Amino acid sequence: MELQIDPYEPCPCGSDKKYKFCCYQKAREEMHKNREELSHSDDRLNHMAQQRWGEADFEVCFGFDKEKCKPLIKGAHSIQNNRVLNRISKDGHLYHIGSKLTKSGPYPILKKISRNKASKFFGFCDYHDTEIFKPIELKDYSQEPIENYLFAFRSLTLEYHRKIRVLNQLRDNFKSFPSATLDPMSVNFYRTALLDFEDYSKDYNSFKKDYLERNFNGLRTVYRKLDFEIGFATSSAFTVQYDYKGKQINDIYFDKSVDKMPSIYVNVYPIESGTNIIISYLVEDESVYKDYFDQLESLTNEELVSHLNFLIIEYTENVFFSPELVEAMTEKEEDSLLRSFASSLDILEKFKLELEQNYFKFNLFHNSI
Ligand SMILES: [Zn+2]
Ligand SMILES: [Zn+2]
Repeated sequence: MELQIDPYEPCPCGSDKKYKFCCYQKAREEMHKNREELSHSDDRLNHMAQQRWGEADFEVCFGFDKEKCKPLIKGAHSIQNNRVLNRISKDGHLYHIGSKLTKSGPYPILKKISRNKASKFFGFCDYHDTEIFKPIELKDYSQEPIENYLFAFRSLTLEYHRKIRVLNQLRDNFKSFPSATLDPMSVNFYRTALLDFEDYSKDYNSFKKDYLERNFNGLRTVYRKLDFEIGFATSSAFTVQYDYKGKQINDIYFDKSVDKMPSIYVNVYPIESGTNIIISYLVEDESVYKDYFDQLESLTNEELVSHLNFLIIEYTENVFFSPELVEAMTEKEEDSLLRSFASSLDILEKFKLELEQNYFKFNLFHNSI
């Protein structure tokens, strides 16, 4: 990947001007300033990063017929509040993986959150949040194509919103610190964020086309029902790197040549005396995911659950735990959960956990509830 900004490409600050005529000059001037001015303490940088993440949030409606949008955009739940979150919450609360700032950077912790705030994002107006998802809000899941579509679509929009937010955050950062446009690491983050954004834009357009044509057969779905209630729920979209046998499916770090890094859509949640597992991909990504889904289909429940235990913590943050599940975990299991979560971005942490034989040594599907 090109780790320099070309003078004639759009400026990474998002101004719509060419780089040469926007932040390039500012960056050169800033480089000549006293370096002291630019060096901040780690605490301060962490604080600024969190503040920027907050500021990069934005409201949008991913509904398709924009003329029907109601002006008010409320926070939409990416996991159903009344059907799912109420089932795993206790006194209106549940847990998620939040972060605590330390000297050496943010560190994951299990944080209590009110169920009304859990899994919320600003991705739909009131009208579309209600209308689009009626088929899965008003009745139990029954393996209809439209239901599979809606679960996958909600996962997709949550992740698409997050990718745009990451890009916004980087753009704001370039605006405040033009010299970052000369830093290869910042440019690398920016290029990766742009590619992620483009991937999810393509998927969003595929979902849009199918919806407008009322074609809900554009997904392949693996569905499995467990006969016990789990103590967590997730709705997420991500690119899987390795299949069940450990063969690489997507090279997410180094392969920038492919047209798109395709995602799978994962929804796992408890229902009355059971648990639904719904996993899908767009059939346009058949060549990438067919073998993997054939594998998933052939797994026993125990094997599938153990694989999902890994996938969910490795690839998503949009997972919420019941207080019962969290309280039933031993200290060691909780440590393994949080550090395994952190290890998805930190290879050293992964080696450490493996040495301690504590890598993914917990079971989210623990049947104790
Ligand atoms: Zn600029
Ligand atoms: Zn709308």
